[in-house]
Amino acid sequence: MEASRLYSTKRVQSLKPTKKIPLEEDPTKASDALPLSLHLTNAVFFTLFFSVVYFLLSRWREKIRTSTPLHVVTFSEIIAILAFFASFIYLLGFFGIDFVQSLVFRPSPDVWIAEDEEEENEVLLAKEDARKVPCGQALDCLLPPLPPAAPIVTAQKVFDEKPVTVTTEEDEEIIKSVVAGTTPSYSLESKLGDCKRAAAIRREALQRLTGKSLSGLPLDGFDYESILGQCCEMPVGYVQIPVGIAGPLLVNGREYSVPMATTEGCLVASTNRGCKAIHLSGGATSVLLKDGMTRAPCVRFGTAKRAADLKLYLEDPDNFETLSVVFNRSSRFGRLQGIKCAIAGKNLYIRFTCSTGDAMGMNMVSKGVQNVLDFLQTDFPDMDVIGISGNYCSDKKPAAVNWIEGRGKSVVCEVIIKGDVVRKVLKTSVESLVELNMLKNLTGSAMAGALGGFNAHASNIVAAIYIATGQDPAQNVESSHCITMMEAVNEGKDLHISVTMPSIEVGTVGGGTQLASQSACLNLLGVKGASKETPGANARMLATIVAGAVLAGELSLMSAIAAGQLVKSHMKYNRSSKDVSKGSS
Ligand code: ADP
Repeated sequence: MEASRLYSTKRVQSLKPTKKIPLEEDPTKASDALPLSLHLTNAVFFTLFFSVVYFLLSRWREKIRTSTPLHVVTFSEIIAILAFFASFIYLLGFFGIDFVQSLVFRPSPDVWIAEDEEEENEVLLAKEDARKVPCGQALDCLLPPLPPAAPIVTAQKVFDEKPVTVTTEEDEEIIKSVVAGTTPSYSLESKLGDCKRAAAIRREALQRLTGKSLSGLPLDGFDYESILGQCCEMPVGYVQIPVGIAGPLLVNGREYSVPMATTEGCLVASTNRGCKAIHLSGGATSVLLKDGMTRAPCVRFGTAKRAADLKLYLEDPDNFETLSVVFNRSSRFGRLQGIKCAIAGKNLYIRFTCSTGDAMGMNMVSKGVQNVLDFLQTDFPDMDVIGISGNYCSDKKPAAVNWIEGRGKSVVCEVIIKGDVVRKVLKTSVESLVELNMLKNLTGSAMAGALGGFNAHASNIVAAIYIATGQDPAQNVESSHCITMMEAVNEGKDLHISVTMPSIEVGTVGGGTQLASQSACLNLLGVKGASKETPGANARMLATIVAGAVLAGELSLMSAIAAGQLVKSHMKYNRSSKDVSKGSS
């Protein structure tokens, strides 16, 4: 807490320097040397000055009238002259002090630069915040008047209000026993029956054990019950990732505000620009081609012949009915769609594909596969199950099988961007984009031996949406497989762009989707939870949105590269010394 306070003080000083800072540090002024208060002293000297001026002028006039030489002065005139000089010097000094103070305490040029930069940042942020729908326009629209700013409640403030304390003697005893290793850290939840307290105690024990502070990692403000047994074990806090909104993304006639959790500057703004181009061109069309999650166990036989026997059995259409009844036993939603086998000698890899409703479906498909393996043991007792996953699935690894056969949702999404929009919004030309796409996304990726990576940065958009909506971010690997195609159409005036993504693995129930923040993002997209009308409709819609957002991201980044804007926009949005090549892919 103390550290965070220190941090915030430093931040205020470094980000908002004002001309007053040096005065606050050293409040002594030259005028403090005066015996009377400044106002009173001023009044005395002003009166004195004007009185003696009046007196001397009247004496001067008198002398001229009586022809008395000017150098003959009386005692009162000498006093008046001295008083004149004294008050004159004071008044000069008075203004001089102010002048000197303004010189002495003028802020250093750095302070002004910092202020200028801050103002510039504010203008930039205001410009971005002032977006109106369609918000893609915010990239180049004029600045409308801002509504009065609402008070900002910072996360830190929320945490400060209700801190978790581990101050009781009992807590202290438990911390000590965790540190000593007598109480296993993982058992805290079940032992205490209070997930938050368990996290606080584990955190304190961890800090003592490692001697490292976790003060930057928030503990409060999170529902630890909600992750118990399904999302994360042994929690000690949570990481904050900002969520930005790109959109509205117009796909299949509906507008979506797309939440993107990212710390990469430029990404949301860029996707937003793509959304604007799509919107101005009448919207994108996203088509779901396939929907089936896969799991492929590896089984082994004594001979390749026996492995082949099982392959033939499993792929025989006459056996499908029986196998699907067995497979479907464990879930209302998991429905076997097909089986594809690959043999490697005596080993057989059996790729089961099934629909999974609104769930991403890994658990569902695994349960169905286990049912079938148990069932097969009767007819194939010599079958040795090596593992329920034999990597032919293929989960969380780049693999041609997903690229070719698909996994999860296979989607193609397209739009025709008008030539005008390409020029005015994307600041490039149809010709340049088509050429760049051919040389970069197709030829360049082929030269690199890419597997499903025929795109500019699909994974950027996929990862950001996955994190925001509670998907499994590790599945970004295959979910980002994407080929981006571009072609000049309508006599070369307009641009046809499409993204084809064969393995988008998403769900709207299960896993991280039920957590409060992630669920809020799904709700924003209108795909929260299970679809009441058609099981699976929400997850399928989410996949079409992901493809639409990738389309927007591809459009914008490719345009930035074609127009040579990439480095410039990174400098604008990432105003740091960050490696700008990182976001470009
Ligand atoms: P996954 O298979 O993606 O890992 P889970 O194992 O959590 O996800 O499965 C999803 C759970 O949600 C299952 O228990 C399933 O019965 C339930 N469920 C409720 N409604 C639906 C739905 N519309 N589609 C899929 N699953 C649903």
